[in-house]
Amino acid sequence: MIKFNIPPCVGKETEYIARAIADRKICGDGAFTKKCNEWVEASTKTSKALLTTSCTHAIEMAALLCDIQPGDEVIMPSYTFVSTANAFVLRGAAVVFVDIRPDTMNIDENLIEDAITDRTRAIVPVHYAGVACEMDKILELAERYGLKVVEDAAQGVMSEYKGQPLGSIGDFGCFSFHETKNYSMGEGGCLLIRDEDMAERAEIIREKGTNRTLFFRGMVDKYTWVDAGSSYLPSELNAAYLYAQLEKAQEIFDDRMASWNLYRELLSPLAEDGKITLPSIPENCRHNAHMFYIKAAGLQERTRLIGYLKEHGITAVFHYVPLHSAPAGRQFGRFHGDDAYTTKESERLMRLPMYYGLKADDVAAVCSRISEFYR
Ligand SMILES: *Cc1c(COP(=O)(O)O)cnc(C)c1O
Repeated sequence: MIKFNIPPCVGKETEYIARAIADRKICGDGAFTKKCNEWVEASTKTSKALLTTSCTHAIEMAALLCDIQPGDEVIMPSYTFVSTANAFVLRGAAVVFVDIRPDTMNIDENLIEDAITDRTRAIVPVHYAGVACEMDKILELAERYGLKVVEDAAQGVMSEYKGQPLGSIGDFGCFSFHETKNYSMGEGGCLLIRDEDMAERAEIIREKGTNRTLFFRGMVDKYTWVDAGSSYLPSELNAAYLYAQLEKAQEIFDDRMASWNLYRELLSPLAEDGKITLPSIPENCRHNAHMFYIKAAGLQERTRLIGYLKEHGITAVFHYVPLHSAPAGRQFGRFHGDDAYTTKESERLMRLPMYYGLKADDVAAVCSRISEFYR
């Protein structure tokens, strides 16, 4: 049996959780949460990072911080997770989907401008598989049209675009620490805030709309309700689990990269024969080996291949069904322009087993089954 994912555990998690319990500090914003925030701030050079209960909630916070109002429009790819869209739909916005590039499965930066109207407020690039969107072009459009940029960097922890860490480039960046991501706390995420002047409001929104954080810092003398907000801070128990992994971030990165590179090496003959397509990484991106996917000829071949691998004890999975084809996608969004690649490429893509500690023998076994299938 080769599983698709095994949640990461590097060894110190239990000790750190026990320490949080012994310290009698298990609600949010204790020592481990602070260490995690500081790790993200230092490793991404962003001015403020706040651990959240999920990436979903980090995107919701970003939508609140962007002051998204009913009737506003937000541009994003249709090939993404529901949370990217929900965060803005919850604020009453309409979602405008733009086609993706077939090489990276990311939003096609050259199609965004045509989708901008006088109601557009934000662009939400999703860095699929931890591979960066063309951020220079996206930032240039945002600047020219006065739009916010919210990076869905759920899959992009430790990835870079032209040397800049993903999540730190747009106004806001959102990380996921779900158990399926490279670094995990079970359920959790992080909001990255580029501009310092947005940090105070972010802290208020995260603390139920109160100025509790400022109160604890001694900056206000009473703690009161000052804005709309919710509870977006995770428990210390989860933060303790995550911190153990952040301390070993490079080791996890290197381990996954070794598996990723081995997949590419072993599958390249099939790609050269034109049987499958491998992921392509643009020159100016450093990816984080979040995912190894291949593309089959089409939906039927992919379904047969997933079934064939399953028969041999290997779990490979397809990924997003484009949001614009879903009932809520039709209700809350519209696809701008032609769907040249979103549907077609999403039907070809399948993800292979990938996790921290995946054995080279298992990678080799997966690759030889795939080769066998094409023979
Ligand atoms: C995983 C993921 C999310 C959601 O993350 P959670 O932490 O589970 O809320 C959002 N967007 C993308 C692109 C993801 O991959």
